[in-house]
Amino acid sequence: MKPTAGRIAFVVALVVLIALPLAPNTPEFWITLMNYIGLSSLVVLGLVLLTGVGGLTSFGQAAFVGIGAYMSGYLTTMYHLSPWLTLPAGLVATGLIALVIGLVTLRLSGHYLPLGTIAWGISLYFLFGNMEFLGKYDGLNGLPPITLFGWSFEKGRDIYYLIWLFVIASVLAVQALLDSRPGRAIRALRGGAGMAESFGINTTRVKIVVFIYAALLASISGWLYAHLQRSINPTPFGVNAGIEYLFMAVVGGAAHVWGALLGAGVVTIARDQLQNWLPRLLGTNGNFEIIVFGVLLVFLLQRAPTGLWPIITGLFNRGSVRGTDDDELGTATPTKSASVRSVREAEPLPKRERPASGDVVLEVKAIRKEFGGLVAVNDISFKVRAGEIMGLIGPNGAGKSTTFNLVTGVLPITRGEVLFRGDRIDGSLARQISAKGVGRTFQHVQLLPGMTVLDNVALGAHLRSSVGMLRASLRLDRKEEARLRYEAVTQLKRVGLGNYLFEQAGNLALGQQRIVEIARALASDPVLLLLDEPAAGLRFKEKVALAGVLKQLRAEGMSILLVEHDMEFVMGLTDHLVVMEFGSKLAEGLPKEIQSNPKVLEAYLGGIDDDFALEQPA
Ligand code: ADP
Ligand code: MG
Repeated sequence: MKPTAGRIAFVVALVVLIALPLAPNTPEFWITLMNYIGLSSLVVLGLVLLTGVGGLTSFGQAAFVGIGAYMSGYLTTMYHLSPWLTLPAGLVATGLIALVIGLVTLRLSGHYLPLGTIAWGISLYFLFGNMEFLGKYDGLNGLPPITLFGWSFEKGRDIYYLIWLFVIASVLAVQALLDSRPGRAIRALRGGAGMAESFGINTTRVKIVVFIYAALLASISGWLYAHLQRSINPTPFGVNAGIEYLFMAVVGGAAHVWGALLGAGVVTIARDQLQNWLPRLLGTNGNFEIIVFGVLLVFLLQRAPTGLWPIITGLFNRGSVRGTDDDELGTATPTKSASVRSVREAEPLPKRERPASGDVVLEVKAIRKEFGGLVAVNDISFKVRAGEIMGLIGPNGAGKSTTFNLVTGVLPITRGEVLFRGDRIDGSLARQISAKGVGRTFQHVQLLPGMTVLDNVALGAHLRSSVGMLRASLRLDRKEEARLRYEAVTQLKRVGLGNYLFEQAGNLALGQQRIVEIARALASDPVLLLLDEPAAGLRFKEKVALAGVLKQLRAEGMSILLVEHDMEFVMGLTDHLVVMEFGSKLAEGLPKEIQSNPKVLEAYLGGIDDDFALEQPA
C-alpha cells in the first residue's frame, strides 16, 4: 500500500482515537462527546447505506435505537440477564420489527416513504412512553454496566473503546458490503427498479434487507447507549432524534462511509457548542440550536449538497493528479488496487449450456398489448434462431419497444404466448426471464453514472453468484467476488472497452455507454440478447463500432433481437427482419427483400440509402 495522504490521515486519526482516553489530562467531557459521536455514527452508518446509497429516506431510525436500548434495559433489570445476552435479543427483536415495518412502508414510493417512516417513528416513541412495564415516560433505571472477563465498562473512558470498536468494525463491514455483489444490488436501487429487476435483482427484497441492516446498526447503538447511561427514557428515541440522525448523514455526505463519522462528529460538537454559547449570547435559555441547525442545513444543502466528506477528500487530493487513491478510502466505490488484484486471481464462472446453431431460441406467438383502447402490439409473431441477428424495425410509435417489453416481462401481455427455448415465459417476472438467459439493454441508457464501468458490468453477473449481505460484510466473499469481476473484465474486453474499467460510467460518451450496457447484458451469460435502439443518438463512427461488436457476437454464436428505428443501421447487419407499423406486422423477410418492399418504403417515406456505409469494412 502506498502511503497516500488519505491513509496517513486515517492512521493519525486512529492513533488519536486510541490515545485520547489514555492521556492523563484529557477532559472528561471530551470522552463523553466522543462516546456520543461513536453512538450516533453507528446509526448514521445505517443511513448511509439506506438513504445515501439505496435512496430510501428514513426519519425513524431513532426508534430502532430505542428498541435495542429498551430490550436490553428491560431484560437486564427485570431478569438480570447479562448484556451480552440481551444484545442478540435486541437484535432479533429489532430485526423482526424492521421486517414488519419494512414490508409495510417500503412499498411506498416518492415522498410517501419518508412520511411513512415518520409515522412509525412517532408510533414507537409513544409505545415506549405508554408501556407500563417500560416505566412509561420515566423509563427504566439501574441498568448494569457491560462487563467482559471481569472488566467492567462502567466509566465513560472504559466503554469508549467498546463503542469505537463497534464503530470501526461497522465501518469496515459496510465498506466491505458496498464493495460486493449485494452492495451493487443496493446501489442499483437508485438506477430504478426496472433496470435492477432486469438483472435478476429482487428489489423489494434488497430494500427490506438493507432496511433491516440499518435498523440493526441502530439497535447496537441503543444497546451501548443504554449501558453507558445506565438509565433510559423515551426522549432520545423520538422523531426529533431521527431527524438529527438524517441531518448528520447529510452533513457528512450521505453516500460516503466515513462521512457518517464526520457528520456525527460535526453535528454533535456543533450542538454542544451551540448549547453552550447561544444562551449566553442571547441572554435567555431555550433550544435555539435547533433553529441555527435549520438555517445551517439550508445553507449546506445549497453550497455542498453532497456533504462535507467530498470537500475534505478534495482538499487532501489537491496535490495528486487524479486523486482516485485517496477517494477510495472514503467513498462508496471499491478500491482500485483491490479490484486489479482480485481480477487477476479469479477463475472463470461456469457457463450456460447453449443451443445448437439454427435452433429456435425465441418464439413469439400472436402477442398482443392493449393500452386502454390503443392496440400497441397487434398479434405479432416471429422467431429468433440461435446465431442470428433478427431486426425488429418500424417507424416511431410502431410498437417495437412495447414488443420488447412484453418479451422481457417488463409489461404484462394482453394475450398470446412467448416461448424461450421451448418454455413459456409470458407471465414470468423480468428477473425470472433474465435468469433463464435473456439479456437486454435499454432504449434510454440505464447505467449507474457514479459507479465504475467495471462495477456496472459486474451487476449484470448478479445471478451468477449467491453471495448475501452477511458474507459480503465479513469479506468472506472475496473469491466469488473476484470471479464476478473477472467476468465483467472479460465482457468489457470482448466489446472493446478494456481500457475503461475504472472510469465512472457517467464520464463515457453515449456510444460507449451503450456498449457498456451490452457488456453488462453479456455478463449474465445470455443465450439471447435484446437490444432496444442501440444506435440511437450515436455518431457515425460509433455506429460502425457497434455494428462491429454485434457481428463479432453473432460469430461467437449469440442470438440477437435488435429493435431499431434506424433502417440503414440494420440493413448491413441483420439476417432477418420484421417490420412493424401501428402495432401490426407490415412485412417480414431478408433485408434485401425488405429493402425493396413498396409497403415498407412507403412507411419509411423512402428513407433507404443504397450506398449504406456500414456495408463497407470498418
Ligand atoms: P416504438 O418503440 O416502436 O417507437 P412503442 O412501443 O414505444 O413504439 O409505442 C407504441 C405505441 O404504444 C405508441 O403509440 C405509444 O404511445 C403507446 N404506448 C407505449 N407505452 C405505453 C404505455 N405505457 N401506456 C400507454 N401507451 C403506451
Ligand atoms: Mg421504442
